[in-house]
Amino acid sequence: MTAESREGFERVAEIDLSHIRHNVKRLAELAAPAKLMAVVKADAYGHGAVPVAKAALESGAAWLGTAHVREALALREHGIDVALLAWLHTADTPFEAAIEADIDLGVSGWELPVIAEAAEKAAKTARIHLKVDTGLGRNGATMERLPSLLVEAQQLQSEGKIRVVGIFSHLAVADEPDRTETDDQIQVFREAIALTEAAGFHLEARHIANTPGTLSRPDAHFDLVRCGIGIYGLSPFADQSSEDLGLKPAMTLKARVANAKRVPAHQGVSYGLSYQTNEESILVDVPLGYADGIPRSATYAPVMINGNEFRSAGRIAMDQFMMDVGPDQDPEALIGQYAILFGENGPHVDEWAAACNTINYEIVTRISGRVPRRYIDGAWGRTDD
Ligand SMILES: *Cc1c(COP(=O)(O)O)cnc(C)c1O
Repeated sequence: MTAESREGFERVAEIDLSHIRHNVKRLAELAAPAKLMAVVKADAYGHGAVPVAKAALESGAAWLGTAHVREALALREHGIDVALLAWLHTADTPFEAAIEADIDLGVSGWELPVIAEAAEKAAKTARIHLKVDTGLGRNGATMERLPSLLVEAQQLQSEGKIRVVGIFSHLAVADEPDRTETDDQIQVFREAIALTEAAGFHLEARHIANTPGTLSRPDAHFDLVRCGIGIYGLSPFADQSSEDLGLKPAMTLKARVANAKRVPAHQGVSYGLSYQTNEESILVDVPLGYADGIPRSATYAPVMINGNEFRSAGRIAMDQFMMDVGPDQDPEALIGQYAILFGENGPHVDEWAAACNTINYEIVTRISGRVPRRYIDGAWGRTDD
């Protein structure tokens, strides 16, 4: 082992902020004149909410979005003072703190009186975006519920407790651009906007598009688009790559090879011995496992070492997984090399998603807090902090 390898990161998710900036710029240009909300929920899909939010704001994002109020409050605590929306609430959501921190709140229905009460305590008007279910069947008011919600909102707005500044919805199948349900959803959304405006509300922000909607449906842009996966450089479409979309994946996941050794033919590998070597071979131990967010369902997943691609062998364990790299490698030389699971100079996240029978969103988002994040800024700009 060299001194250099002892100083580096044993296991690291490297986030290239220059790629985040590139992707935000590209999506903001596509969305214009609509504005771009960078969706940084779930710790920015595993990339780190604060550094990603700052990079996004430097490169054209006008808004930030999170699912939970607590995620939004954490951004405020880091001095981020731009327009910020949170939309997924429960009876224990800290609404009063949200109103005090100027966080806009999505409202499906039941939250409205609760938020009005919190606004009264905070002695401050809450900024509300009404959420409409135009077809996703998740949260949001149904079109049947919307008229009564508008009446409630008129009353609370006249009392100065709330102000309805936006209306939004979420698309269900925009990642499959041929499906007609998106047309239906946009049509219902237009009806909801018309109803809301007819009720006397002046809407600053009408928004329905996620990343796939932003990329494939200019008629879904309205005033604002909410992009998550695209700002991380990943494609929401099954038949288009990051490169096809002009996006650059921002996360590289890698770890130093922990061990490598020669074993005989028919050596069982990892729990259950579900994999066996065909011949005398070299086994490599990569110190990333399901505690680090590597799905246990991964089978035959690709890993690059020194420009050579190998595959995972046998079950993913809590802390590590194994690879069979064949008989021709030098085990001594492999120990301490970087095994790149995906990202720069490695396989694509999409290949890991395929190997785990899931989507790229899940692969990056579930990389756990056990893996240190390291921020770089282009190939040469190190911004370790
Ligand atoms: C997560 C989320 C988004 C972002 O979706 P992407 O497909 O990652 O762009 C947008 N809007 C809402 C309501 C979301 O929950």
